[in-house]
Amino acid sequence: MTIIRALHKIEDGGEAVVAQVTLAESGDMFCVEPHETILAAALKAGVDLAHDCKTGFCGSCRIRLLEGEVAYDEAPLGLSEEERGCGFALACQARARMNLRVAAELMPLDRPEPTEIVTEVLSVTPVCADILRLRLRPTGGMPAFLPGQYVNVVTQSGATRSFSIASAPSEGEIDLHIRVIPGGMFTAGELPELRPGARVDLHGPHGLFRLHPEDFRPLLLVATGTGIAPLRAMLAALKEEPDGPPVALYWGMREEDELYMVDEIAALGAELDDFTFVPVLSRASEGAHRAGYVQDAVLADLPDLSEHAIYLCGSPEMIADARGRFLEAGASVNHIYADSFHFAHNL
Ligand SMILES: Cc1cc2nc3c(=O)[nH]c(=O)nc-3n(C[C@H](O)[C@H](O)[C@H](O)COP(=O)(O)OP(=O)(O)OC[C@H]3O[C@@H](n4cnc5c(N)ncnc54)[C@H](O)[C@@H]3O)c2cc1C
Repeated sequence: MTIIRALHKIEDGGEAVVAQVTLAESGDMFCVEPHETILAAALKAGVDLAHDCKTGFCGSCRIRLLEGEVAYDEAPLGLSEEERGCGFALACQARARMNLRVAAELMPLDRPEPTEIVTEVLSVTPVCADILRLRLRPTGGMPAFLPGQYVNVVTQSGATRSFSIASAPSEGEIDLHIRVIPGGMFTAGELPELRPGARVDLHGPHGLFRLHPEDFRPLLLVATGTGIAPLRAMLAALKEEPDGPPVALYWGMREEDELYMVDEIAALGAELDDFTFVPVLSRASEGAHRAGYVQDAVLADLPDLSEHAIYLCGSPEMIADARGRFLEAGASVNHIYADSFHFAHNL
């Protein structure tokens, strides 16, 4: 953690005065304008605070307030009440109300540099009623990426749409699991028309969601829907690591027909020393699989989460609810990693 001291704009008889941010570790200082968020001010000054979506969903820019208070235009979904109560804030949304002293992560130096990736379609396969699996072969060789990261698909109009990579780098292709959004420009319009051999341009890899091998604890992986994709990539990478920690994967879907990857996940997990896999169906009564919401099933099985490293991926609602309730069950904010499939409109 880097300690940053933020000296913010202070009203002086109604007059705006110049505000400054001081990095406690280095002594560097930078200005903060009243209209700016803490992240915007930091980036403008060349301070590379960890961040990703910049819209308050992903939680990558979480900082800890050591002194001072912040305000939000709207409460960000990527920060639970519990986290706020513990003094955390999201730098991409927070505005300083007074001088601040915060602890913050910087962007990891080892993350692969995002680039343009030209690919060729290997296949587009429906795997259930509204999910298509798009397999792509990069024509210039496999780019470096970390299991858990996502790519932006560049659409015909030049707009981008984000999708997590479901394959591990060693698998030699980029596998995307894509839910078709009714009326969606890419998922319902362009994607179903793609044929083998077609060119698809990507940009990436992006995102800070990835395995943290240094956080060596029992792993709890929780997904809803196609949020299983980056967790599948992580499983594929974990099986290459001997002596890994125990892994429990909970996958929430609505109905049994949607569990498109049960056998594949089970096969990947069978190569791990200690693997538990629990599909949970929100629109089914108890049968072959658990019924209810995935976060309820986790808490029923694991009421004490104080020893786990937790990876959450899928709907923003699940992540927000799970984050809060898992903290109540003893999980530590420093051991929760999340990737929110929020709707980001990049026209
Ligand atoms: C980091 C990240 C990773 C993602 N990874 C995946 C993934 O691996 N698999 C996957 O299926 N999706 C993933 N998503 C979500 C995916 O990016 C969107 O579903 C997609 O951009 C929709 O594009 P579209 O052009 O079809 O829809 P658009 O034409 O852009 O949207 C049409 C309308 O649909 C609604 N809409 C769009 N997307 C969503 C959504 N996700 N949820 C609810 N309503 C929506 C909006 O109201 C919008 O107005 C990810 C999102 C993010 C931010």
